[in-house]
Amino acid sequence: MTDKYAVIGNPVAHSRSPLIHAEFARQTGQDISYTAVLAPREGMRAAVLEFRDAGGRGMNVTLPFKHEAWDLVTAHKGYALVAGAVNTLEFRGPEMIGHNTDGIGLVCDITDNLRCSIRGRRVLLMGAGGASYGVVEPLLREQPEELIVANRTPEKAVALVAHFEKFRALAPRGVAARAYASLRGERFDLLINATSAGLSDEMPPLAEGIFAAGALAYDMVYGKTTPFLEFARARGAQTADGTGMLVEQAAESFFIWRGVRPDTAPIIALLRRAGDEPTQPDRPR
Ligand code: NAP
Repeated sequence: MTDKYAVIGNPVAHSRSPLIHAEFARQTGQDISYTAVLAPREGMRAAVLEFRDAGGRGMNVTLPFKHEAWDLVTAHKGYALVAGAVNTLEFRGPEMIGHNTDGIGLVCDITDNLRCSIRGRRVLLMGAGGASYGVVEPLLREQPEELIVANRTPEKAVALVAHFEKFRALAPRGVAARAYASLRGERFDLLINATSAGLSDEMPPLAEGIFAAGALAYDMVYGKTTPFLEFARARGAQTADGTGMLVEQAAESFFIWRGVRPDTAPIIALLRRAGDEPTQPDRPR
């Protein structure tokens, strides 16, 4: 019998997850269906339970429900334990297990696909929303020299850094929250835009000279060249949008559900052909 999976969100019509998982299933010969479930803002819990009770095996969770999903599950696994956000639900009998594969997706895309080492690098993470919470622990486990978190609303960056206090020592020079204005004169090797600014053609207020030589500018927004990526490209940085992260986090979810690891490269290429190909050729580091 075909096993049923879905992504739940609001809005969700734009999601590429059904396409990605259909390709994974075709490639690995897994008999699954994968649909999109639009839940009312106040109706996520009911929609998840309805899907599970109708025989669903698992779900991906997208905006704005990742924190609510963390509260809903009966157990947390892996990075979901600390992240406080869940993007993958696994239904096992009465148990509902919550995972967070966003950080694995990001780190895999940066280190494996883009061949950019995080270890020993100065990293700037912009944004302090759900996406940032999902990636801080996996980023720190790569042992960057330092992780600086900046956010438009500074107190949210302070709260995020405090939330991950127990991992601070993984970065030799620590983890700190900073205001954008205070970064003038500093240089970073890896700049990750985890804000949604690009969706409205805006970017965080970055000063000139922020990119170290050979820096990678990564924007989690996918399928478009954001102002941040344009800014970075014009200053000689390597750039990448979030397409690779999207596919890699999906592959990790697929592995959790099916125990099979799909080949992500052809799907990333497929999505890039459909988009505007904002990633420049890799520069090995
Ligand atoms: P969120 O919880 O709504 O947080 C949005 C963040 O963006 C906040 O920190 C917000 O700052 C900041 N922001 C919004 N507009 C800004 C602007 N004009 N200038 C500066 N900062 C601005 O959203 P999220 O869940 O963290 O997601 C963030 C983005 O990552 C979304 O675009 C999402 O699509 C993308 N994402 C991609 C993937 C992937 O697989 N590629 C995975 C997860 C998320 P304030 O706190 O000041 O409001």
